[in-house]
Amino acid sequence: MKNYKLLTPGPLTTTDTVKKEMMFDHCTWDDDYKKITQEIRKGLLELAHVSEEDYTVVLMQGSGTFGVESVLTSIPGENDKVLICANGAYGERMEDMVRHAKMSYAIYHEPCNKIPDPAKVKEILEQDPAITHVAMVHSETTSGILNDIQSVAKVAKEAGKVFIVDAMSSFAGVDIPVGDWGIDFLVSSANKCIQGVPGFTFIIARKDLLIASAGNARSLSLDLYDQWKTMDVDGKWRFTSPTHVVLAFYQAMKELEEEGGIEARSRRYYENNRLLIQRMEEMGIHSYVDKEWQGPIITTFFYPENCHFTFSQMYEYIKERGYAIYPGKLTEGETFRIGNIGEIYEEDIEKVCSIIKEFLEAYNHESSVA
Ligand SMILES: *Cc1c(COP(=O)(O)O)cnc(C)c1O
Repeated sequence: MKNYKLLTPGPLTTTDTVKKEMMFDHCTWDDDYKKITQEIRKGLLELAHVSEEDYTVVLMQGSGTFGVESVLTSIPGENDKVLICANGAYGERMEDMVRHAKMSYAIYHEPCNKIPDPAKVKEILEQDPAITHVAMVHSETTSGILNDIQSVAKVAKEAGKVFIVDAMSSFAGVDIPVGDWGIDFLVSSANKCIQGVPGFTFIIARKDLLIASAGNARSLSLDLYDQWKTMDVDGKWRFTSPTHVVLAFYQAMKELEEEGGIEARSRRYYENNRLLIQRMEEMGIHSYVDKEWQGPIITTFFYPENCHFTFSQMYEYIKERGYAIYPGKLTEGETFRIGNIGEIYEEDIEKVCSIIKEFLEAYNHESSVA
């Protein structure tokens, strides 16, 4: 079936008007196109609540991982050391990146249902003065937990460290005052909460730190400073730009504004998420992350007790009825995930929950369903 909505955390379901923008093969070098790139960069600064004086935006080809890798391998210098705070697969991926680049790093782990503790970060920074940069994930899509980047940023800044955030799945879905919180580099991508399609990633960067990093990059194509230097002149991309994706993203930004900006979009996501968890609980399906730390983007659920089906049976059943869900990504326990970002509204949540209820009944589940 080719007609389903995505309940996955990006790529996600986009509007027809966003998709329609991709029907035009735009020239890359003319002023019209470069102007679009510049307007996107300017709009992203506004969404991050920062000024052009202190911050700048770099767009980078590739998926979100390329953006995180670009920052981690371009910003720290040869003698620098990165502390990675990890409580899920995307934190672990940061470790993979610095390892590939043979960089000096330390890692602080928490289990997937616990947020990194700012007091522990403080302690680590005191004990290891060689650390110069602190990196962590905001919305850990592995579990759906929303980490407290504000408190960790505070600790990092007090210690004089550079603070890097992977806010891939949260930026524009959760309001982030980037400057006020002391975030130096924030990474997100086109296909998450701004509701564009996959193809590029963007970095909101402290301008002085970016300029100071010139020559540090360990890779040519992911060189953040070089990418910025070319783009900042007039909006020209250093290498072939994903034109169709850029046009779709520009439209997606307009639609975000029409919806009422981050405030309205965030409210919709929070409400979708609350309804989802409530309906699932009514079926005896419990979420993995404690309510206190549950983010509004995606939720990890345990299978109900005594269930006699596999993920792929459930996935196929739901997909045939119009929605695609997501497998679990935890090592402990059998779980699955449902995202609620993208063009998803309360009626979709009600619908998918009634499909799941039907499925559980069809599979003879001895549940608490009344
Ligand atoms: C989506 C996502 C990424 C990027 O993943 P890609 O597959 O490279 O797009 C990175 N971090 C988090 C937290 C994400 O949700």
